[in-house]
Amino acid sequence: MPAFPRFAIQGLRKKILFCSVIYTLAALLIVSTVSTWPLLRSMRHFEETNLLHAVQTRTLAVEEYLNRIKEITLQIGSRSQLRRALDHYAQQRWSLDRLREFCDLRMGEARQASSTVRGLIRLSTDGHTVAQNGLYPTADRNPEIFSHLSRPAAAIYLVDPFVLQGELVLAVVNPIFSFEGAPIGQDIVFFSTAKLQRILWDKSGMGKTGESFLGKTPKNQAVLFFPGRKGEEETYNQDIQSPVLTTAFALSTAGKTGVSRIDPSPNGKGLVVAYAPIGGTAWGLVLTMDDREFMAPLRARIASLAASVLLLTALGAFGMGAILRPMTGRVLVYTRELDNLNQELQQEVKERQTAENNLRRSENQWEQTFEAITDAVAIVDSSGQILKMNRAASSLVRELGSAYPGNDAHDLLFDSRHFRDDCSLEQLLREKEPRCCERTSPSNERFFHVALYPLIDHANEVWGGVYVTHEITERKKMEWAKDEMISAVSHEMRTPLTAILGFVEFMLDNEVDREQQIDFLRTVLQETERLNELISNFLDLQRLQAEIGQYQFAVVEICPLLEQAVGQFRMTSQKHILQIECSEGLPLAKADARRILQVIKNLVSNAVKYSPEGGEIVCAARQEGGMLLISVRDQGMGIALAERERIFEQFYRIDDSEKRIPGGIGLGLALVREVVRAHGGRVWLESEVGAGSTFYFSLPIAADEQVDSEPT
Ligand code: ADP
Repeated sequence: MPAFPRFAIQGLRKKILFCSVIYTLAALLIVSTVSTWPLLRSMRHFEETNLLHAVQTRTLAVEEYLNRIKEITLQIGSRSQLRRALDHYAQQRWSLDRLREFCDLRMGEARQASSTVRGLIRLSTDGHTVAQNGLYPTADRNPEIFSHLSRPAAAIYLVDPFVLQGELVLAVVNPIFSFEGAPIGQDIVFFSTAKLQRILWDKSGMGKTGESFLGKTPKNQAVLFFPGRKGEEETYNQDIQSPVLTTAFALSTAGKTGVSRIDPSPNGKGLVVAYAPIGGTAWGLVLTMDDREFMAPLRARIASLAASVLLLTALGAFGMGAILRPMTGRVLVYTRELDNLNQELQQEVKERQTAENNLRRSENQWEQTFEAITDAVAIVDSSGQILKMNRAASSLVRELGSAYPGNDAHDLLFDSRHFRDDCSLEQLLREKEPRCCERTSPSNERFFHVALYPLIDHANEVWGGVYVTHEITERKKMEWAKDEMISAVSHEMRTPLTAILGFVEFMLDNEVDREQQIDFLRTVLQETERLNELISNFLDLQRLQAEIGQYQFAVVEICPLLEQAVGQFRMTSQKHILQIECSEGLPLAKADARRILQVIKNLVSNAVKYSPEGGEIVCAARQEGGMLLISVRDQGMGIALAERERIFEQFYRIDDSEKRIPGGIGLGLALVREVVRAHGGRVWLESEVGAGSTFYFSLPIAADEQVDSEPT
């Protein structure tokens, strides 16, 4: 199991903080955008509506003011006494001087009535100045203005502001009619523009950046009557250079009221422009305002809101961090503990795996060893029930089961219910010590060595046992054969020794003639040779099998060896016809001459021994294939097919209950096979019971070499 990484929690904490900050910001951004966007739009609309309202309000104020001054002018001109005096002058009832004297006084009073009236002048229809007071133009000093104003008027009208003696004034021209309706003169009243300027310079409803412009557009060129802002250097009746104002004045003087927005130019600022015509005049009123006038505070608010949001977010993040820290800190502690536990667990798992592997390996080893044991092994519980058997035990049980039907092979091998021998389970349970015994198969054919070992539990109680059964039939037979061999050897040795002893004692105790002496000595010699052969066969076989006797291979002629062996028997056994058949030009053999002579002697000895008197014995040698083939043929009793292989085993003798077979110890043919095999040859026989046997053995042919030596 992989360890849970501690830094994952730390990373998690950072991620949670980061995400909360981002989410908060995003949420606030969305909320503020969603809520601010319509606000911004409505603010723009508000700006425009507000300015439009402002221009309309101011237009009304201006119009009201203009009406007021017109009214004042009308009031001045409507005085009946003055009109009558003027009428008298028109009808030449009064002189000009009388009229002037009368009017000057009255007009002065009239002007005093209103502070905005800066001056007035009354003209008669013939162009004479009837009365004048305060500021007024005269024909000699202000000819242009004077001629402009003194033109006869049909009705009251307002004159555009103009500068009179350094002061901007408004002039209202009021024609005066007689009671009959005939024109008798006109009043020109000059008003201060201060009030007008106050109306326009009042910034209420326009913000700090608002400006009011009063002017008109004669002949495509706008003219501004006075500066749009108080305190600016005073200029009157200036041509307007700004295209924005020019357009606005053109629209307003064309009688249109409206508002428009001028987008910010690269080097200028954006404007909201409202315009309206001044009723009863050719004038227009234009109001401008910075398009951010109302947005600026809003922006400031938004900025402060954003700052608060950021501050809140930072505080939130800090707060969340403060909340998370102890929590995650605890998680970290748990994680660390879990880590340690994990490591311990992993170590434990690893150790357990190793132990399991070792256990599995040892179980495997045990299982394989158990199965590989060639002895029959069976594990039984305390009741004798078999718990486990190895392969050898199973096959032995099968084998015995089929060989002895009706007998329980398990009982024979691993159970003691039917045996009261030394390896009974009852004894084992009682004595808790390993037991062993020998058991025999039915009809005493097979023998087994049975060992029984106790299986002891932790309470030192025997809970079962292990049977190890080893077949000892061969060993038994060998032992018996050896016993037999020992008795045979001793019997065989005793027979010639008894004969030798008897003859020697007889000759020592009695007077025997020479002929008898020779006969006795020949018998002694014969028995001695037989004893010698017996002993040498026995010793040679022991030595060869123990690889003590070294072979001395040489290039050997076979026929002389045959001659030598047969010659020896011709001397001792005259009752058999011994012949030699040796092919001409036989190749030489590679052999140990002394050992091969011993082989031939053993075969001839057997032929003599197991043939009736008068029987013919033929020793032959010929070449066959790449080998030399040597045979010894007799006309003896022959050997049954079943015995033909076994007679080459040590101490094996054909069982002869009728004792027809002469004595022997069963070593001659074993020695023959040992020597021939050591030469790289083979030995076998052909036989017919009652008709005789032929023993063959082969020897390798030597390469072209000289004969080395003669056997002695
Ligand atoms: P031994 O002759 O001392 O008994 P051997 O090993 O030479 O021992 O022979 C083994 C057995 O083989 C003999 O006991 C005999 O029964 C049988 N045997 C050997 N040679 C002959 C033979 N030529 N004819 C019949 N039986 C033979």
